Amino acid sequence: MLSSYQKKRDFTKTPEPKANNGKRKGRGLRFVVQKHDARRLHYDHRLELDGVLKSWAAPKGIPLEPGEKHLAVMVEDHPLDYADFEGEIPEGSYGAGEVIVWDRGLYAPEHGPDPAENRSAAERAIREGLEAGKLSIVLVGEKLSGSWALIHTKGENWVLLKHKNDEASVVSRANKASVVTG
Ligand code: MN
Repeated sequence: MLSSYQKKRDFTKTPEPKANNGKRKGRGLRFVVQKHDARRLHYDHRLELDGVLKSWAAPKGIPLEPGEKHLAVMVEDHPLDYADFEGEIPEGSYGAGEVIVWDRGLYAPEHGPDPAENRSAAERAIREGLEAGKLSIVLVGEKLSGSWALIHTKGENWVLLKHKNDEASVVSRANKASVVTG
């Protein structure tokens, strides 16, 4: 559902995509982490599901140390095309500030099914995990790889938890640059 996303934005002013233009490519399910230098810097963590990007804003980004938890506030669904968006949201617009793609790649529910093998079964498992308030996922990105859990706490608040028995593999923890434009 993109109505909430569209209501917040004036597409004559912001360069953000209004909707999904064209079809998605590839067989897996995408994830993206966008560094958003808004009034308060945060990282937007987005997971493809049911034709949109389920989205959380994490003020401290993705936790990298085993057992570490970071707050992730669920926000409105974003269009799939947002996964490729980088740019400057102008002053006066919702979320004004610079957005870069900090990481992107594919994700899957940790305990299967594999989205590349059975997309609808994988999406169902993810949907059920989110509805139950606990979803374990594996990310395979350009910077991040490993497993994390999203755990619902209260209201829009979730925590992103780096699994204890799993060292995050991060190409460069210090690397804050875009994976698209460098
Ligand atoms: Mn944001």
